[in-house]
Amino acid sequence: MAITTIDPATGEEQPTQLEKLTADEVERKLAKADEAFRAHRRTSLAERAAKMRVAGQILADEKEKFARLMTMEMGKTFKAAVAEAEKCAWVCRFYAQHAEEYLADEGVETDAKKSYVRYLPIGPVLAVMPWNFPFWQVFRFAAPGVMAGNVGLLKHASNVPRCALAIEEVFRRAGFPEGVFQALLVGADAVAGILDDPRVRAATLTGSTPAGSSVAERAGKRLKKTVLELGGSDPFIVLPSADLDAAAKTAAKARCINNGQSCIAAKRFIVHAGVYDAFARAFVREMEALKVGDPMLPDTDVGPLAMESTRDDVERQVRDSVAAGARVLTGGERIEGPGFFYPPTILADIPESAPAYREEVFGPVALLFRAADADEAIRLANDSDFGLGSSVWTRDEAEARRFVDELEAGMTFVNAMVASDPRLPFGGVKESGYGRELGRVGIHEFVNIKSVWMEESGPGTHPESE
Ligand code: NAP
Repeated sequence: MAITTIDPATGEEQPTQLEKLTADEVERKLAKADEAFRAHRRTSLAERAAKMRVAGQILADEKEKFARLMTMEMGKTFKAAVAEAEKCAWVCRFYAQHAEEYLADEGVETDAKKSYVRYLPIGPVLAVMPWNFPFWQVFRFAAPGVMAGNVGLLKHASNVPRCALAIEEVFRRAGFPEGVFQALLVGADAVAGILDDPRVRAATLTGSTPAGSSVAERAGKRLKKTVLELGGSDPFIVLPSADLDAAAKTAAKARCINNGQSCIAAKRFIVHAGVYDAFARAFVREMEALKVGDPMLPDTDVGPLAMESTRDDVERQVRDSVAAGARVLTGGERIEGPGFFYPPTILADIPESAPAYREEVFGPVALLFRAADADEAIRLANDSDFGLGSSVWTRDEAEARRFVDELEAGMTFVNAMVASDPRLPFGGVKESGYGRELGRVGIHEFVNIKSVWMEESGPGTHPESE
């Protein structure tokens, strides 16, 4: 079946001349992955690192070409897309440099002559990925995965097929044999069958909570490990000692990053009553200063939403929340004309019955809440099914430590917006998923953590064994 995509900035169809894979073609790719794994797992870390560095170089050298693809397929601003390609180059270099240290044998003192932990690859891993950071989400899985000796099968979101193929091409041009990283142009309906295939050893999904739950259920039936990076409704908490100007500036940026479509975008702004009015004024000013428009232009801050359905969802959430009693401080109406544009918006006085109170809003809509004190701020922040990131603004160190301990989130940033960083683990709790990407723990998610026990000669016996 032919694949068409839609340019979110114009709403026009873009014929791709790409076809979805047939069942036979999927089978051939799975066989290739299996075969490639047998060879790739035996390559040295130095060999993998050399190729991963080339992948990083290709991304850095051709960042504008990759950026154009991203902007055309999902509407992020060109400058953000260039930065995304650069970040992918970084994660390739990062794991090229650190994988050997992260995967080194770890000696453990026991009664054995020698015992240690060894990290071995597990095989082909299926990556089901979203469109919002169409390169970054993939590379943050693929760079550590391929360095660990696994091979990757990418089922990318259906609206970014050219990005998927471009990523496959980066790995091939970097010198990795065909089969080490392959894009599968298939729809979500093909995922269950691929998960059932015994050659696929594990899966990672970045996307919505329902998609994650469905993949985890299927993989669970076959006892395959999953890592899930799902939705978020991150709190951004402003306390009386905060630098309000810096907080308001960062708040607008953190809400509207990636045209408002980031899992770790700050979505719920919980502000201490003592500074609520001043913060609200500054926040409205900052949101209104953002320039909405053509994502290719260098001075555009907010481009279109990625799909018509994404904008329809945001519109419904705002309309129904207003009907439930929420108040619009700025924005709140779609921008008429071609493309899927929606303006930076702030809702206040949001009742618990409003959809925006509980649902993730995947567009540039900020939800403003007033908290009487720090206790209420923590209660409101934790009154969510999600638990991905969180940001706290205070100059009081003891207060910051309390929030670090009490916020139910996989990440807490103090006086800064939440961002992923190759050096630090990334992931959430509650319905934001489980497992971690990036950092040292990220490369250990999809490995066989093998315990090795060695005696001088003969069949050594473990003291606990019968
Ligand atoms: P999505 O609809 O869940 O899609 C993500 C991927 O899952 C796509 O490849 C999609 O394929 C596939 N998929 C959807 N339903 C599936 C199912 N039942 N079984 C198997 N695969 C399925 O999410 P999205 O709209 O692309 O992305 C937005 C969501 O991702 C937001 O909730 C956002 O917060 C979350 N996200 C989380 C992180 C994180 O790191 N925690 C990062 C980025 C985004 P098709 O495109 O073919 O439907």
